[in-house]
Amino acid sequence: MLDVEPFRHWLTSYMQDNELTRVTIARRVGVDEARVRRWLLGADAGQPVISELLVERAGIALARNPRLAAELYPQLAEPTCQVCGASRGCEHLTGQRAR
Ligand SMILES: [Zn+2]
Repeated sequence: MLDVEPFRHWLTSYMQDNELTRVTIARRVGVDEARVRRWLLGADAGQPVISELLVERAGIALARNPRLAAELYPQLAEPTCQVCGASRGCEHLTGQRAR
């Protein structure tokens, strides 16, 4: 699970920039309006976290951006190698990328 705050911040700006309502957001993402309201208050399902899958889905549905999760949460874009601890460029991570 991810801290909801970066997503909340992005969603708030996106709604303002595009003059979108919670109802429109809910319809496009395919969730209840009440859930969008909770996101804007900084929570999902009662906790201040949100799933990576949901951020990804919202990015695609709203902004046609399949990389939104990686952009809002840089730790997702730079995995740490479980073998040697490198954040990029080691042969273990290269091997993972080739899957
Ligand atoms: Zn490694």
